[in-house]
Amino acid sequence: MSEQYDVVIGLEIHVQLNTKSKLFCACSNDSYEATPNTNICPICTGHPGTLPVLNEQAVESILRLGTALGCELADESLFARKHYFYPDLPKGYQISQYETPFCTGGSMLVERPDGSEFTVTFERLHLEEDAGKLVHKGRVSHVDLNRAGTPLIECVTDPVIASPSDARLFLQSLRQLVRYVGVSEADMQKGHLRCDANISLRPVGETTLYPKTEIKNVNSFRFVEQALEYEIERQTALWKAGTPVDTPTTRGYNESTGETVEQRRKEGQADYRYFPEPDLPPVTVHDDWRSALQRHLPELPRAKKQRFMRRFGLSKEQANLLTDDRDVANVYEGVVSELTEWVDSFDPEQDILPEESQRLTQAAAKWFIGPLFRHLKDSGRTIHQLSPTLENIAELIALQYNGDISSSAAQTIWDVMLETGQDPSQIKEEKGLGQIQDLSAIQSVVDTVVSTHADAVADYKGGKEQSLQFLVGQVMKETRGAADPEKAREALLQTLRK
Ligand code: ZN
Ligand code: MN
Repeated sequence: MSEQYDVVIGLEIHVQLNTKSKLFCACSNDSYEATPNTNICPICTGHPGTLPVLNEQAVESILRLGTALGCELADESLFARKHYFYPDLPKGYQISQYETPFCTGGSMLVERPDGSEFTVTFERLHLEEDAGKLVHKGRVSHVDLNRAGTPLIECVTDPVIASPSDARLFLQSLRQLVRYVGVSEADMQKGHLRCDANISLRPVGETTLYPKTEIKNVNSFRFVEQALEYEIERQTALWKAGTPVDTPTTRGYNESTGETVEQRRKEGQADYRYFPEPDLPPVTVHDDWRSALQRHLPELPRAKKQRFMRRFGLSKEQANLLTDDRDVANVYEGVVSELTEWVDSFDPEQDILPEESQRLTQAAAKWFIGPLFRHLKDSGRTIHQLSPTLENIAELIALQYNGDISSSAAQTIWDVMLETGQDPSQIKEEKGLGQIQDLSAIQSVVDTVVSTHADAVADYKGGKEQSLQFLVGQVMKETRGAADPEKAREALLQTLRK
């Protein structure tokens, strides 16, 4: 980071909505893997004489996100035509919003890993349609219009972000929020989130905004951060040479070289010749609608994280991991409530002690952050695609918590559960994985081990403490991990004293 210059970053993020149909026609909004130009109709391909019909679900989505961000929702919103020529835009204009977007203002508090926080404020959120796609094959380019008319929310932040790493953290928080409020899957690989980053530098202490450089369509958060870092270096050098950026420009990011390359000197707003869309009436947002949006807003990431820390006694790190994904958070909460019910069932008259409840939430947290997260990461599955149900997971944790199974048996049962979706008690019976608590059952194994490992026994009696651990290990091995190691140790000590 430069010491003589402040960095000023603003982002424009396009969020692809998960509505059933496109923004102005009945075509499916899910054509990611469809054959080119099969998911189209006269409206989304811009045939003359066709009329757009606004998708209500898309309007609900932008208002929901706007409410979550604390934006002001316009009483009356207008659509506008934004004119430009490109082969993937047959109409010659994009239906977007200009003067009165659905949402203005709003903000988001973002936490850095060191616990400090910063706020990103928004200029506006507007609704618009996506264009088609150019597919380049050798020297020929094809036009695929499947994506034309897909609904997007464009989120425009104020130029208030001070570093590339803050930009990345903000994008991650925004992705989490759009998933929480359920308006988009926000899958980067499928291009559900696309980011343009605007950046300029200015001497420390100045408040003027200098002409910005826009880095177009960067498709991963890491690349946004890298592209911005590259720009800071490039623009710092220009400032130092006395030739700072003096005109707004657009640059592209080359992922393989890590450099940005000038594409064009940017057109002004006037070049788009925005004018009100005559085929769509204004959308009125009544107070009833506003209050319904407020009422139906789900618990947001920050509130959920804080509640998890308070209610379940989790550390900040644990709460962060467990609330990162809303669905995972909900399953965790479900598992904890199953576990609590289970403990409560032993003695319904008595309230569960706080220590006991804390041990349960920790046992569940460790199981989630350990084996469960590892499996989700390795398999690429979502929590809903897991074969074990919430009840199965709770039961497995309960079995281990209760000392019915050892931790290695728990792992074995988990693996079988993932394969078959069977319930853990059943797997435990079938595989004979129950922990042997019964001293007499352990005793017979101990006797065998003692008689077959005379050397180790002699070593132990001769004062070699580690030999006891070896013998415990042999008992565990003989019982295939089923013996309670504490009990095995106890029985061994008694036998060796004889
Ligand atoms: Zn269509
Ligand atoms: Mn846009």
